[in-house]
Amino acid sequence: MTNALPILIIGAGQAGATAAATLRALGHEGRIVVVGDEPHLPYERPPLSKAVLTDAAKDGQVGIHAAGFYAEKGIELRVGVQVASLDTAHAVAHCSSGERIAFSQALIATGGSARALPALPPGTPRVHYIRTLADAQALRGALQSETNLTVLGAGFLGLEVASTARALGLEVTVIEASPRVLARAVPEAFSHWLAERAEHAGVDLRLGTNCTAIEPAAGHIALTLGDGRRHQASQLLVAIGQSPAVGLAASSGLALHPQTGGIRIDAQCRTSATHVFAAGDCTSQHQPLLGEELRLESWQNANEQARIAAAAMLGVPTEAAATPWFWTDQFDCNIQMVGLPRAGLRYHVRGEVRADVPAPRFVLIGADGEARVRHVIAVNAGADVRPLRSLVDQGTPCDPAALTDPSIPLRQAVRDAQAAAATLALS
Ligand SMILES: Cc1cc2nc3c(=O)[nH]c(=O)nc-3n(C[C@H](O)[C@H](O)[C@H](O)COP(=O)(O)OP(=O)(O)OC[C@H]3O[C@@H](n4cnc5c(N)ncnc54)[C@H](O)[C@@H]3O)c2cc1C
Repeated sequence: MTNALPILIIGAGQAGATAAATLRALGHEGRIVVVGDEPHLPYERPPLSKAVLTDAAKDGQVGIHAAGFYAEKGIELRVGVQVASLDTAHAVAHCSSGERIAFSQALIATGGSARALPALPPGTPRVHYIRTLADAQALRGALQSETNLTVLGAGFLGLEVASTARALGLEVTVIEASPRVLARAVPEAFSHWLAERAEHAGVDLRLGTNCTAIEPAAGHIALTLGDGRRHQASQLLVAIGQSPAVGLAASSGLALHPQTGGIRIDAQCRTSATHVFAAGDCTSQHQPLLGEELRLESWQNANEQARIAAAAMLGVPTEAAATPWFWTDQFDCNIQMVGLPRAGLRYHVRGEVRADVPAPRFVLIGADGEARVRHVIAVNAGADVRPLRSLVDQGTPCDPAALTDPSIPLRQAVRDAQAAAATLALS
């Protein structure tokens, strides 16, 4: 190792840990300092709304790398320390511990936080948010000791927790202002199927329901709903979205996107400041699939951006970002999505869309006006994701009738589509 200025990684989460590991894997021998404000070694967040809620033994199994990994790789990890300010002009960071870190290059990987209701700040008794291991542990305690849970927000996290709570036998009410679940992420037909699935599992799902007032009361949280009805929550999970953690970036003058609120980065994850990169939930990046800038909050995006940023810091070539992919587990369904939803897609169904069977299995294939597959949603059909992903990757025109014909194996239909596209390209 050299004593030259280190690469500084701010945020010891998914993107930060992956970037540090990638720097070493790419042969970087210089110092790497990772500063994280949580008291833990970097850990995976997806299990927090799933297995961690039911099984305390999982707490010790969520590490992104084994405990000895960082020392073994010579990665200097400072946990429980916040980077309080960043002077990009002089390439210096100031930490809550009093340490001053001069760096050669920096990666901002500060993630995000659960959006909070002003009336119910984090720490309010009986109120839960979910972002950190500590949040999940507190929620697990509540699920073990209570008989009912109210969830505000029918997004991915709200529904995952609702599913887990139902499996534990709690009575669960989900209140959502939008008329459908996952409104921004999936087509209407899929929202309807998932809502039916949640109801079939026993969730009391109140869609199109606003909360006009919400306040702590004696022994419960009191909610007044848009129709005037009152609802008492003995435990309340507020799952109304995540905000990017961009305070440090903003105060150091980095450009943020006015709509997404994320730190603007280019295809190599460079921010507006020289030698400063950013990756993960805190970023906003142009998405070639949509032709617009987006902030993606997913495990895969954090890893992909970390990989690309690490390569760019070292000036080594690397593959472009993979097509966006996301998964969620709820109501006995593993749901995987490839590509991004957009207006004007027509969805074709392979399999049977049933909410009332133990393990539904189907795929929705979203094609644009030129019959190019742009978005895929696979329910308990992980094996179908890989072939369909290749169509999304390549933007191959295809015959939806063949892709959805149960008598034609999916891989065969995909190969046929690729062969037809290749022939067309040659002619
Ligand atoms: C409960 C939950 C379940 C999820 N489930 C799924 C799923 O099923 N599928 C999926 O694809 N994605 C899922 N995700 C999303 C995925 O986990 C995130 O997209 C991913 O963790 C983002 O990684 P990140 O490194 O950007 O942020 P994080 O992993 O949040 O890491 C950021 C870290 O930086 C720290 N930090 C912030 N500011 C500072 C500072 N100034 N100084 C030092 N440290 C700082 C934060 O405390 C945090 O530890 C889930 C997320 C949550 C919260």
